[in-house]
Amino acid sequence: MADITIPKGLSGREIIYDNLYNKGTAFTNEERIALKIDGLLPPVVNTIEEQEARVMENYYQKSTDIEKYIFLMGLLDYNLTLFNRVLVNHLEEMMPIIYTPTVGQACREYSHIYRRPQGVFLAAHEKGRYVELLRQWPSKDVRVIVVTDGERILGLGDLGTSGMGIPVGKLCLYAAGAGIHFRHCLPVMIDVGTNNAEFINDPHYIGLKQERIRGEAYDEIIEEFVMAVQAVFPRALIQFEDFGNQNAFRLLENYRNRVCTFNDDIQGTACVSLAGLSAAMRFSNRKLQDQTFLFLGAGEAGTGIGELIVSALVKTGMSPASAHQRCWFVDSKGLVVQSREGLAAHKKPFAHDHAPVPDFLSAIEALKPTAIIGVSGQAGKFDKDVLQTMTAINEQPIIFALSNPTSKAECTARDAYTWTEGRCLFSSGSPFDPVTIDGKTFTPGQGNNAYVFPGIGLGVIASQASRVTEGMFLAAAETLAGQVSQADYDIGRLYPSLNTIRPISLHIAVAVAELAFEEGLARVEKPEDMMAFVKSQMFEPQYPNYV
Ligand code: NAD
Repeated sequence: MADITIPKGLSGREIIYDNLYNKGTAFTNEERIALKIDGLLPPVVNTIEEQEARVMENYYQKSTDIEKYIFLMGLLDYNLTLFNRVLVNHLEEMMPIIYTPTVGQACREYSHIYRRPQGVFLAAHEKGRYVELLRQWPSKDVRVIVVTDGERILGLGDLGTSGMGIPVGKLCLYAAGAGIHFRHCLPVMIDVGTNNAEFINDPHYIGLKQERIRGEAYDEIIEEFVMAVQAVFPRALIQFEDFGNQNAFRLLENYRNRVCTFNDDIQGTACVSLAGLSAAMRFSNRKLQDQTFLFLGAGEAGTGIGELIVSALVKTGMSPASAHQRCWFVDSKGLVVQSREGLAAHKKPFAHDHAPVPDFLSAIEALKPTAIIGVSGQAGKFDKDVLQTMTAINEQPIIFALSNPTSKAECTARDAYTWTEGRCLFSSGSPFDPVTIDGKTFTPGQGNNAYVFPGIGLGVIASQASRVTEGMFLAAAETLAGQVSQADYDIGRLYPSLNTIRPISLHIAVAVAELAFEEGLARVEKPEDMMAFVKSQMFEPQYPNYV
């Protein structure tokens, strides 16, 4: 991943308007003269630190989160290096803007705030031309692609082409979190239509105004996309993001052993959740093998977490059948049990021999779980009764309310700490402010996928692994859990601060790359010093010298 150089023949104006090369007022006098841009810039020559201070001053003047989002996206369009630097240095603060929850609002309003293309749009009617369309992307060295079809954006449902905000946001996190340079990143939106009536009736909607394509025709579109990537960007990792669950599981099964790919909603969520659970085990002196997990929601996130917990348990020597028996699910129809007819394939391994139970509270009373994990997209389902019942059964109940955005969380941090008398080990999908109960302040950590996917991606890219394996997610979860300190735990965090994301990603990447070599999947020569090797591939947000 070599330094940036400006291709010969670009005009000064083209350089200034290209976010990859632009340095704004930080072009030195020598560069201004050599590149013939001295007349296009004001006389001041700033350092990147001065530019960053100016950006932050502007940022703090924005009064709403969506304005902050638009401002940051403007900076991304204008100056990638400065954008990256600002994000790296203020990641914890900007995460809720660049990603959930504000990105959800941005996606809803995407057609109205759309400025410039930030990735490749592959519309259904262009099928047959996807190789050609991917070749239109200016960077020829793409290493990671985040793709969505916009069907299940966060917990917000079908947002069609407006879902493009998600791949863009995820790739910002790859860049900030793991130092993967933007020129190696490609956001892709596959537009197969939308079933969102509001969007279809919106005169400004920027996507295809047609019902979603389903069945074989849909699978052919995805197949053409995956094969086009192999042809145009053969070294790229494909991250599937926010696909509806009727497609997500099938696509993962179809492609995980054929190409270098993973599904973040299923596997990334599972990884970060397992890391939180492992940290909870470590600091409360418990064993994963002794827990009973009860999930609210049996979709991509829930069964993905369940399957990774099973893998972790199997690694401790438990049989797969006993390991599955540790995980129970309640979905919209009640407890998932064997006698239920028409169960989706992903729920079947968790359908145990038990009498039907109609609701979540009754399931807690029947199964006496040590941990409840909310991945239902249903706000407030971990209510006072649920939390008090968990507290009556457990000394330290584990409460993960993972649904996004904040308005969909199963409970707030305040509710969790209040109704468990401050005894719970809590994690959420959306950020919550610190909570003080009886004089003790809890600063809960967010079980955010951003802790893991950048590092996993970096490890895969560095080793040029040909596949992303279940073992890599286990290794990443273990590594992340190992980064949680006693000080984090003492203030209620099961995750380290996001501001330390770069070293976290580096450690995860090293663990993943090591495993890629062990599993015979790496496609580069094994370096002697893996840490130094991976680190050398991380982009630092500093300007190159052009002259
Ligand atoms: P999904 O649509 O695949 O699954 C949702 C599940 O919830 C389904 O099984 C559905 O039956 C169940 N459900 C719906 N209503 C219910 C009810 N009233 N009672 C019980 N169950 C009910 O969605 P998903 O991808 O699994 O995501 C679920 C939630 O998890 C979303 O809000 C998403 O934002 C969140 N999520 C969070 C993270 C994270 O924090 N790291 C990651 C991924 C997903």
